[in-house]
Amino acid sequence: MYLYNSATHKKEEFKTHTPGHVEMYTCGPTVYHFAHIGNLRSYIMEDVLEKYLRYAGYDVNRVMNITDVGHLTSDADEGEDKMLKGAKREHKSVMEIAKFYTDAFFEDCRKLNIKRPDVVQPATGLIDDYIKIITKLLDTGYAYLAGGNVYFDTSKLERYYIFNDHNEEDLAVGVREGVEEDTNKRNKNDFVLWFTKSKFEDQALKWDSPWGVGYPGWHIECSGISMKYNGEYLDLHCGGVDNAFPHHTNEIAQSESYLGHPWCPHWCHVAHLNTDHGKMSKSKGEFLTVSLLEQKGYDPLAYRFFCLQSHYRKSLVFSWENLDNATVAFNKLIAKIAALDPNDGPVDEAAAAELKAKFTKAMDNDLNTSMAVTVLYDVLKAKTNGATKCAVLEGFDSVLGLKLLEKAADQRKKQAQMAAQPAAFTVVSESGEEDADVEALIRQRQDAKKAKNFAEADRIRDELKAQGVEVTDVPGGAKWKRI
Ligand code: AMP
Ligand code: ZN
Repeated sequence: MYLYNSATHKKEEFKTHTPGHVEMYTCGPTVYHFAHIGNLRSYIMEDVLEKYLRYAGYDVNRVMNITDVGHLTSDADEGEDKMLKGAKREHKSVMEIAKFYTDAFFEDCRKLNIKRPDVVQPATGLIDDYIKIITKLLDTGYAYLAGGNVYFDTSKLERYYIFNDHNEEDLAVGVREGVEEDTNKRNKNDFVLWFTKSKFEDQALKWDSPWGVGYPGWHIECSGISMKYNGEYLDLHCGGVDNAFPHHTNEIAQSESYLGHPWCPHWCHVAHLNTDHGKMSKSKGEFLTVSLLEQKGYDPLAYRFFCLQSHYRKSLVFSWENLDNATVAFNKLIAKIAALDPNDGPVDEAAAAELKAKFTKAMDNDLNTSMAVTVLYDVLKAKTNGATKCAVLEGFDSVLGLKLLEKAADQRKKQAQMAAQPAAFTVVSESGEEDADVEALIRQRQDAKKAKNFAEADRIRDELKAQGVEVTDVPGGAKWKRI
């Protein structure tokens, strides 16, 4: 499998430390608000990547953090804690906010058919591990104490920037517009490992540490959590592209300095979902949620389909029109699968192998999901039976996660139910009068007609006539009047 590696800026053959096994880490959500569909684009694509690795035969251990402390309102370690800000907004405690939005996140994932990672670890659960890492970084001279905080010393590294050929001045945290310079820092890119002093003294969650009561910086959680559950050698690290700098850059700096050897060779970044105004973001407050899509009548899996139609390294523009188009295509696809007979004979293994090879070729080429989606249509067009097509589609959907077979089976069931239901037969009088006995006789006459017992139908008509009632057949029922 060839996968683009942001660390080497090349499409590379994906290799793992232990053959056949992948240690995978993905940055999780900051749980101070609902995830927006931009965040969820990243999680959908990471889910497809994990599922494809499993499909390709790897055994995968996937770990994810939940950021419930330490992520400040500016990525440059400045400002207020995002969690605290969320708690203030909703007049709740930080832990209440964390629990509520963690549950909401996994509920959105369930709706989008995103698998839960093997390990999910809230950042607040591993404080001792971060303290151990920071202690060693201080002992080995990679970190220093200043103004009550512990900072990572980026000048100790041979190479700090990994992902882009950054212009150092552009990225210089201290000179960025709107970001106040932290005078404790020896170098502009140094970042906080442990806070005891912050301008925002009301930080709710604090722990004892060798450097005083305080709380961890944002980046240390991902290094600590990954090292605990993935071990010292990570194979694949994923996240949205905005995480590349400074978050992932800082993760690499502290992890490799702590371990004393290379940490993660392969980095995968998902491009952003944009609106007309640029990147969809939680802090800007302009964001769309899965619940909102549902309220507007969209199937969350139609959004998943929309994401799969484009490549994960290209930014994607969200508009209602684009989602409408994806929904129409998704529903048509399901209707076509519903028209297949999954039990029309044995699976044609040769035809299945040919289609599987097409799918694998698309996915092995840097996870080309839009091409993989077109292979779904190739399956439908293939000259083979329904059983083969359904079996192949089921395999592909274990990766794409669109619930295609399940939705098609539901549609078949509904169609069968509708066909079995007797058509509604309405009986009305022309005057608006209601007479249960007359109506019962008219319905008996209709039943007789349906049973092709025309003599009985005529007899009932005569009986009604004898009562002074004239019946006229109309589409979908009958009307009557007194004569
Ligand atoms: P956060 O909850 O802000 O920590 O972000 C969770 C994940 O969503 C991270 O991997 C981000 O890089 C990613 N992300 C944030 N905004 C977007 C966006 N507009 N499109 C795609 N991914 C995003
Ligand atoms: Zn992270």
